[in-house]
This record gives sequence, C-alpha cells and structure tokens, in this order.
Amino acid sequence: MKKILFIAVCAIFLGCNGNAQKNSDSKDQKKFPVTKSEAEWKNELSPQEYAVLREAATERAFSSELLKVDEPGTFVCAACGNPVYKEKYKFDSGTGWPSFDRPIDGGVAYGRDSKLGFERKEVHCAKCGGHLGHVFNDGPPETTGKRHCINGVALNFIPDDK
Ligand SMILES: [Zn+2]
Repeated sequence: MKKILFIAVCAIFLGCNGNAQKNSDSKDQKKFPVTKSEAEWKNELSPQEYAVLREAATERAFSSELLKVDEPGTFVCAACGNPVYKEKYKFDSGTGWPSFDRPIDGGVAYGRDSKLGFERKEVHCAKCGGHLGHVFNDGPPETTGKRHCINGVALNFIPDDK
C-alpha cells in the first residue's frame, strides 16, 4: 500500500513539474538575483504589497502617499530595496498613480501583459521580479515621452538627506 502511495505522489510531482516547464517563458519562471517562495514573500510583505508585487494587482488611484513626494531622493522596490526610480524623474500625470518619465538604469525590466484584452508593457523590479506597474507612451514629450505608471505600494521612498 505504501508503495502505491509513493508512486502516486511521484506521479503528482512529475505532473506539476511538467506543467511548470510548459510556462518556462513566462516572467515567473525567470531567474532573478533575489528569489523567494511565495510563502516567504507572503510572510514579509503586507497584504497590499503582496497583491501588487506578487500578483500584479493595481492599487486604487490616488491612494498612494508617495504621490505627494517632492523632495530629492530615490524610490526603491518595497520587496527587495532595489533602487528603481528617482524623485527627479517623477511628474504629475493626473492619473492618481506615481508617474515617472524614466527608471534608474538597470533598476527595472519589462514584460508583456495582455490581461485586459490588449497588450500593455509591464514593468517589474529587475532584482526580484516584483510587479511595479506599466509603461505607456503618453509621457512628457519634452523629456522621454514615456509614462511609467507605478503602484506606490510597490515602492518605498528614501530622501537624499537620510
Ligand atoms: Zn525588488
């Protein structure tokens, strides 16, 4: 009986493994310098942070305290502390989400998101893969023309004088 159970467990394990390999080109299977299990992330992050960073949820517009930030400093990934945006790249887009015309070089990486039925450019932390937001092409034309529409809950702000 024990042997049968063992074989059944093996079959289930192999089944899951086969499934995981099928999705190997999705972002979740990519190797990031910081990798943790979903259980570890759940433990470390607040429920709101977890929903955005690990499940790609979108925070409510105008809900972020970081919209008000207007002193020099750096925005870091709330999950791993990786510097992703500078305050000087921030602009008021009027959308209700912290918006930047560019990221810190090497701080972020991009993916594709077609959840809404059309394709959007997804942006995530280059170090841990945490979802940050999306990039649109309606940013300030006098600089980059890009709008990084970022969930404030996915960021922490570190003022330069601290
Ligand atoms: Zn990160």
